[in-house]
Amino acid sequence: MAHVLIVGSGFGGSIAAKRFTEAGHTVAIIEMGEDFRDPAKLQQSQDTKFILRLFRDYPVDYLQSKPRLIVTQGMGLGGGSLVYSGIHLRAPANVFDSWPTGYTRSNLDPYYDRVEARIDATPDPATFAYGRPSVFAQGAAAAGLPAPRAHPLAMTGCTHCGWCVPICKWGKKNTMAHTYLADAIDTGRVQLWTNRKANYIAKYGNKYRVTYWKTDSAQDNYHMVNDGRLYYQEGDIVVVACGAVESPPLLERSLNESLPAGWSRINGFDDSTLGTGIDGTGDFVQGGFVPQEVFGYQGAIMMSSLDMGDYVLQDLHAIPVGPTVKFESSFYLDGKERTWGLSYKQKLKDYGKHMIAVAIIGKSPSGANISVSDDDGNVAVGGNAYSPPTGSIEAARSIITALGGELGNTPWERRGVAATVHPVGGCAMGNIVQPTDLQVFNNPGLHVIDGSVLPASPFRNPVNTIAAIAEKAMDVLLDVPGAPNW
Ligand SMILES: Cc1cc2nc3c(=O)[nH]c(=O)nc-3n(C[C@H](O)[C@H](O)[C@H](O)COP(=O)(O)OP(=O)(O)OC[C@H]3O[C@@H](n4cnc5c(N)ncnc54)[C@H](O)[C@@H]3O)c2cc1C
Ligand code: SF4
Repeated sequence: MAHVLIVGSGFGGSIAAKRFTEAGHTVAIIEMGEDFRDPAKLQQSQDTKFILRLFRDYPVDYLQSKPRLIVTQGMGLGGGSLVYSGIHLRAPANVFDSWPTGYTRSNLDPYYDRVEARIDATPDPATFAYGRPSVFAQGAAAAGLPAPRAHPLAMTGCTHCGWCVPICKWGKKNTMAHTYLADAIDTGRVQLWTNRKANYIAKYGNKYRVTYWKTDSAQDNYHMVNDGRLYYQEGDIVVVACGAVESPPLLERSLNESLPAGWSRINGFDDSTLGTGIDGTGDFVQGGFVPQEVFGYQGAIMMSSLDMGDYVLQDLHAIPVGPTVKFESSFYLDGKERTWGLSYKQKLKDYGKHMIAVAIIGKSPSGANISVSDDDGNVAVGGNAYSPPTGSIEAARSIITALGGELGNTPWERRGVAATVHPVGGCAMGNIVQPTDLQVFNNPGLHVIDGSVLPASPFRNPVNTIAAIAEKAMDVLLDVPGAPNW
């Protein structure tokens, strides 16, 4: 039996942990964020001191530096599943046209089934009893768009309190810590090393060593820790599962670091595409005030999807810090465009009752134009803003105006800013990893299992596809009878 080191505990890392441990192997998980399993640690709060323990922003100083591209991801034991909205959608069939041979929607369907069953992703039958999805559906009908459907949510016994982001205080969101990781821990074969940020991977004889810094002296923003004493763990197999932003720079550092005596670098591979071709999955949000009573806070945070083929529109409620501080929306008030002041404050007094936001996710015509690279132990995100899926902003706006609403001017309209929580790619299968078992080319025992291996956008919220691919790769890696050869 092998000893496996898994770096990162999000969707890919947790699925790998369950599968390896249930096959009898031992696993150590190295995760830079905190262990949030104690409910006493959880808050329904907009306090940045709490939020920055759960989110990774790239660049971290975006409120000051005002870049045109911002990427945000979750961190902690469970990774993005701690902060996610619980939405599990399957990618449409045409997504797979450009993927390596064998990857088709029908071939992936059994793996989607497996993930949805384990995570209990089901549509909430009460969806359209809530103001926000119901007004969203009214607006779609008035605008002549297809009817939204309740989308599958990974929630059990949800109280509909609307605080799924940053985290569910009531344990009703089926995060990795409640499902795949819990299964792995139940085997008794897992060691958890939280508050540890991996620096690089090297070889030592026939073993791998993963070096890391401790992050527990930091208060938040654990992804920015890049100094202090370096420790290491040793294993037979390493799974890199740090997500699309952090996995490519971890491999980049592993190819370049100077090493202690007796250690050797991982084998070379064609790294010309490493950290490039990352897709923001067309994320945009269009908000506005509508005369109908929305009661945005009620219900889960995003409950329904309207399928437009290459993109979806989803009803969204976000805590006000988003549209007021992080991605400030302006309104024309007293003849001026305003993002602050008394009239703006008065405008926002109806935020909970009348603000509706339409999230857009899908195929961006600008393609996969984001890149990431190592910046002395941290990550530099490059590239300009991607553009919205064709026709999506107009469709989102038409829902609000058909309701007789007033549109907010978003950072995209005002300053050409794009912000994604759904980056995929950077260690694409076929380029950096083998499509079959997601092994890094030329490096037996070194795998990448996370959103970075997607060769292109899934045109939908990506976790269902990331998780299905992870399950499939683990079947191949563990040589499960009947495992596919693609
Ligand atoms: C607010 C929000 C809501 C979202 N809602 C949805 C949704 O409803 N549906 C959906 O499909 N997608 C959603 N997403 C996107 C989803 O969270 C990501 O696509 C998904 O988590 C990616 O999975 P992953 O396994 O690639 O990596 P992650 O889940 O990001 O896990 C990577 C883990 O690795 C850790 N890590 C990174 N670098 C290191 C290092 N050097 N050393 C140690 N640990 C490291 C990180 O802390 C993290 O815990 C949402 C994202 C956000 C931010
Ligand atoms: S709406 Fe449901 S899943 Fe979201 S925070 Fe409340 S109880 Fe948790």
